[in-house]
Amino acid sequence: MSVRNILVINCGSSSIKFALVNEKQSTFPLQGLAECLGSPEAVIQWQIGEAKETLSLPGADHAAALAKILPLAQEMAGGRLDGIGHRVVHGGEHFTGSSLIDASVLDAINTNAQLAPLHNPANLIGIEAAMSLFPGLPQVSVFDTAFHQSMPEYAYRYAVPEFLYTEHGVRRYGFHGTSHRFVSQRAAEMVGVPVDDSSWLVAHLGNGCSTCAVVNGESRDTSMGLTPLEGVVMGTRSGDVDPALHMYLARTLGWSIEQIDSMLTRDSGLKGLSGLSNDMRTLHEAYEAGHSGATLAFEVFCYRLAKSLASMACALPRVNGLIFTGGIGENSSAVRARTVEHLKVFNFQVDAQANARCTRGTAGQIQTEGSPRILVVPTNEERQIALETLALLDA
Ligand code: ADP
Repeated sequence: MSVRNILVINCGSSSIKFALVNEKQSTFPLQGLAECLGSPEAVIQWQIGEAKETLSLPGADHAAALAKILPLAQEMAGGRLDGIGHRVVHGGEHFTGSSLIDASVLDAINTNAQLAPLHNPANLIGIEAAMSLFPGLPQVSVFDTAFHQSMPEYAYRYAVPEFLYTEHGVRRYGFHGTSHRFVSQRAAEMVGVPVDDSSWLVAHLGNGCSTCAVVNGESRDTSMGLTPLEGVVMGTRSGDVDPALHMYLARTLGWSIEQIDSMLTRDSGLKGLSGLSNDMRTLHEAYEAGHSGATLAFEVFCYRLAKSLASMACALPRVNGLIFTGGIGENSSAVRARTVEHLKVFNFQVDAQANARCTRGTAGQIQTEGSPRILVVPTNEERQIALETLALLDA
C-alpha cells in the first residue's frame, strides 16, 4: 500500500488551523493557519519545510479559505489526498469515538451545537465546505469529548436533579481527549509498558488546561465538565469557582449572565489573577522581576493544578507516572517543579537538571531516583486526528 496523506482541519469561529500529515513522516509536509476570516484582514499563512508563505484574502470566509488550502494540500500530497480529519469539539454522548462523516453524523454534530455554541457550528462550516470541494474524499470527525465517554457514571454526573441530565444533557463531558489519548499512549511506549495495562495522571497545559486520569488507555475522569470552563486555572478562564458566584455577582453588581460568562472565560485565569497577561512566558519574566500579580498567578496556577491531579488519583488503581504536555507543560520547567512540590504525599520529586533539559519539544523523564515517573511528552493532536482518520479508512 502506498504511503497515505491526511489533511487535518481545525475550524474556529474566524480561523482554520490545518496540517498535512504523512503516515511515514514525523514532520508535517505542510501546515498553516487562516485567520481573521470574514473580515478585510483575512489572511492565510503556511509553511512548507522552512519556507513560509502568506496570502492576503480580504473578506474571505471559511469556504473561500478552504478553496485555497485544499488544492495546496493536494499538491503537497503528490496529487493524492487520502482523507480529511476534522477536529470537532463536542460529540455529546452520541460519539464515543471518531466517525466517518455522513448526513446522520452532520445532524448529530448540529444537535450537539447547543452544548458548544461557539465551536460546533464553526467545525460544521469547515466540514461542509470541505465536502462540497472534495465530495469523493472520505472525511472523518474526531471529537474532543469522545475519549472521555469511558468515564464511569459516578465521575460524569453532577449532583443536580436527574431531569437536567436525562432531558437536557447536563453532565460532565471533558475535552482535550485527543491530546490526553495521544500522550498517554506515547508515555506507555516511552517507558515500555503495554497501554492496556497502564495508569497515568495527565496535565494538558495550553491556553486551555485540563487534567485526566487514564487507565489502560481509557479516560476514567477529567477536570473539564459540561463546558471547557470547569477545572484548573487556564490562560483567561477561571476554572472552578463557587457555583453561587453567578448569583452573588448578579445580586450585588447587577451583572447579566453574558457579563459573568465573559468575565469567567475571557478576563479570568492567569490574566485575571496577574492583571498582566495570559501568557506563561510573560508571567515568568514578570515574577522574576518581582511582579506580585505574576507571582500570585503562577502560585495559584500550580497549586490548583496539583490539587486537581491529586483528585484524579482517586480514579487510578496505581500510578505509572505523571505526564506534562501542552505549551506550558512541555516548556515550563518552573511550573512542573512547583506543581510537583505540592504532590509530595505521592512521593513525586523532580530532578532539577532533567527538568531543565525538557523544553521545546524534547520528551523525557524528569523524576529523581525513588520518585514515581514524571514525564514530559509533547502532544501532537494533528497526528492523533490523522491516525484516527486512517484507522477508520482501514476499517
Ligand atoms: P493552545 O491551547 O492554544 O494549543 P499551546 O499548547 O500552544 O496553546 O500553549 C500556549 C501556552 O504555552 C501559553 O501560555 C504560552 O505562554 C505557553 N508557553 C509556550 N512556550 C513557553 C515557554 N517557553 N515557557 C513557558 N510557557 C510557554
